[in-house]
Formats: sequence, C-alpha cells, structure tokens
Amino acid sequence: MILESFPVGPLACNCTLMGDEDAHEAIVIDPGDEVGRIHKRLTELGLKLKQILVTHAHIDHVGGALKLKRLTGAPIFLNENDIPLLKMMEAQAAWLGIQTPETAPPDGSLTDGLVVGLDRFPAQVIHTPGHTQGSVCLHFAPLKLLIAGDTLFAGSIGRTDLPGGNFDQIIDSLQSRVLTLPDETRVLPGHGPATNIGEERDTNPFLRTM
Ligand SMILES: [Zn+2]
Repeated sequence: MILESFPVGPLACNCTLMGDEDAHEAIVIDPGDEVGRIHKRLTELGLKLKQILVTHAHIDHVGGALKLKRLTGAPIFLNENDIPLLKMMEAQAAWLGIQTPETAPPDGSLTDGLVVGLDRFPAQVIHTPGHTQGSVCLHFAPLKLLIAGDTLFAGSIGRTDLPGGNFDQIIDSLQSRVLTLPDETRVLPGHGPATNIGEERDTNPFLRTM
C-alpha cells in the first residue's frame, strides 16, 4: 500500500494519497490546493485516480477538487450537508483573501455508513457534524486508520465558529462516533501531526471530561 500525507495550500491542509500498487489505483482525500503536485505524484507512481474524497467543504480542503477531477476524470464525493458551504466559495475565499477556486456539485454524497476507497483498502464514512454540517471522518478499519478532517486534531478539535459550526454537536460526534473506535486507531487530522484515538482520549483537553 502507498500512503502519503502532505500539507497543501496556505492553510497547510493535510492531503492524503492512498494507492494500491498492484491494482494501479489510488484515492486522494482533501486536495485543497497544489493540484499540479498531487497529479504529478499520481503520475510518478503510475496510479489511476479512482475517487476524490472530501472530508468537508471548507476551501482549504475542497479548493482543488474540481481541477483534479478535470485532470483525472475521477468523481468527487462530499457529504450533501456541506453543499451550502460549497456554494459559499466566494465568501470563503474572501475570508482568506485568496482567489475563488471553481467548484461543482459533487458526483456523490459521503453519506453515513457508505463504503468508499479502494477494493483492497475500503473505508467506512462516519458522519461527524459539528465543525461543519457535512463533516465526515473516513475509517479504514482493516488499516486501523482514521482520516479525521477538521473534526479531531492532535490535542484539539475543529473550530465551530464558522457558518455551519456547532460546538455541542462536534463534542457529541467525537464522543459517540470517534472515541468509540479502538485506542490503537491511527488518526491523520486535516491539519498538523498524526495522533491516535487512545492518546486523544487520555490527553485531549476537549475530550477528557467524558
Ligand atoms: Zn475546516
């Protein structure tokens, strides 16, 4: 398996590329920016992009998705509850003072329980609203891996002061849907370093009260 995670764009969103070198297929999660670099890496590895998965519709996570789709033909999946945010791309770009990326409605919704990813490395969608209404985590159970988007960070959680954010809801999502995963589950957050569920249960100041 190929698993590469690297920060892209001015907000350093962690973009993840997962590939199956035998099937020559890949998925890309959160191509927020630097699409040329992502596409070059896929080409270098000789991988055909099968799916573009977006954890939520904030500009730093979704900004490059349509460009990557145009380069590869891969469909974009995003939870339908974030479509209002996708339509606010101009406002989102204004918050950051950057150019508005072109976007399009997703090809499919990352609905709760849906299985996505590669045949050999499937992931189950866990809907975790709170940071945004359509925020999801992707749980690759056989790999003991969680792609957490901006729901959970090492030592912190996603902000809830932007449109669609709700603090009580993100805490509920984390307690009822994320901390229930096995302790050894490795977590790749949407920004910053990797962590694991046990570590966050024990030390994350937002989660210790449970
Ligand atoms: Zn976000």
